[in-house]
Amino acid sequence: MAAHKDLLTFNKNGIYCSVAGVYIDPWRKVDKALITHGHSDHARSGSKSYICHKDTLPIIRHRIGKSIEARGIQYGEVFTINGVRFSFHPAGHIIGSSQIRVEYKGEVWVASGDYKIQDDGVCTPFEPIECHAFITESTFGLPIYSWKPIRETIGEMNTWWEANKSLGKPSIISAYSLGKAQNILHNIDKTIGPIYCHGAIIAMNKVLQEAGLFDCDILPVTDDVKNYGNALVLTPGSGINGPWAKRFKQASIGVASGWMNLRGARRRRGVDKGFVLSDHADWDGLNAAIKATGATKVVVTHGYQDIFTRWLCEQGYDAVSEKTLFEGEGSENAEH
Ligand SMILES: [Zn+2]
Ligand SMILES: [Zn+2]
Repeated sequence: MAAHKDLLTFNKNGIYCSVAGVYIDPWRKVDKALITHGHSDHARSGSKSYICHKDTLPIIRHRIGKSIEARGIQYGEVFTINGVRFSFHPAGHIIGSSQIRVEYKGEVWVASGDYKIQDDGVCTPFEPIECHAFITESTFGLPIYSWKPIRETIGEMNTWWEANKSLGKPSIISAYSLGKAQNILHNIDKTIGPIYCHGAIIAMNKVLQEAGLFDCDILPVTDDVKNYGNALVLTPGSGINGPWAKRFKQASIGVASGWMNLRGARRRRGVDKGFVLSDHADWDGLNAAIKATGATKVVVTHGYQDIFTRWLCEQGYDAVSEKTLFEGEGSENAEH
């Protein structure tokens, strides 16, 4: 086993590879940024140049600017900077999401960004990559977080939508516009009724559709529609609380989130129905993913990082916790 020479370190700008002079998901402006995926806490504006997976490219162009200097690469394609070999591998989190493999003089590190283990049928499924050191998120790094199979949760959504429809009540689900929305749109039973989406989801889907990455028949919410009683309406969390939602009379409101696994979460948010659906790994998923890498060193970032780090140390890993500006699925309006 190679000695760990800290091929990737953490500083005020982000996750840094000093030999290559590049950052992974920097939270400040840097010269060269490698981006794991298009969520706003990982892909920030202001850097001089970007490298990301080719499917992330249209997403970050849409979100941080058409004119940015950015290059998209394929999964498994290797490029070298100052003798350091880099490649991107599927993270299963959202379309284009990647783990970044970094190899130098026989030492391999993997920065996983955000990842989920279950195949949602939308993005390329997660692949474990062998490494000496693995940088993991810990958004749901407590044993209480345990997901059902996606199709079971979607089955609950179908049943709920059918029941609302029979009462003439619109069904509104709050879900992130990038990731969760496509996961639901792809898997839900589209024969139940029409699906309407908030403008933010319409805009994101248009970007994905134009790039040939996702396709689904959805309708915009407009003043012309008088009755949403048989419809499913998808919106980011911000839409639920604003004046936008007032038009849906007598609607039943659901939230799709990993946090719905927590007792009381649905009540605290004042919604009618909680669906446990996440684009992150649950407790078993995190542990299985880490084990599959064969890594002895683990660096834990955003989430329950102190508790999860302690747990990993007890399991015999050389685990440390590092502070980042990634937000996890923590803040309600954040898109992760
Ligand atoms: Zn994240
Ligand atoms: Zn994310």
